[in-house]
Amino acid sequence: MEQLYTFVERLYGPDVREVLRLLYESRQELTEEQLSEKMGARPNDVRRALNRLLESGLVVYRRQRDPDTGKTVYYWRVNYENLRNLLVSRKRLVIEKLRERLEYEKENVFFVCPNDGLRFTLDEAMEYNMICPRCGTPLEPDEARDAIIEVLEEVIARLEEEVRREARGR
Ligand SMILES: [Zn+2]
Repeated sequence: MEQLYTFVERLYGPDVREVLRLLYESRQELTEEQLSEKMGARPNDVRRALNRLLESGLVVYRRQRDPDTGKTVYYWRVNYENLRNLLVSRKRLVIEKLRERLEYEKENVFFVCPNDGLRFTLDEAMEYNMICPRCGTPLEPDEARDAIIEVLEEVIARLEEEVRREARGR
């Protein structure tokens, strides 16, 4: 969620982030009045923030007439279904990037300088005659590569499991 809040803030500003956070954490419907009270913000700012969130599909509302005052009250809540889809698609994007990295690691042989840790592809290492261009130490095959591949595969598997679970509806 923290990632999503940051994303929303960068896109729409701090008011929108705060409204989303309050709605999400209260786990119930809130009126515009309740929100502006909790935030100490003007009703107009809250309404603007809610409209932004509505446009992006992150919140929904229900209208109801107050029997005492006769005024129409809007009850807002998080659009959980959409929120889940958004989180899942962000995770899918991360998986894709990790897969690209994994392919890159698997397709290339790497060499490292044991002195300063610089890392080179086989082509680069050959270009430098298997000698570190910074310090002149002979390059060695990178033995950390297998560990990197292992970690990447683990993280990808975990994320894929999360996405599967979330797609099923937890
Ligand atoms: Zn070196």
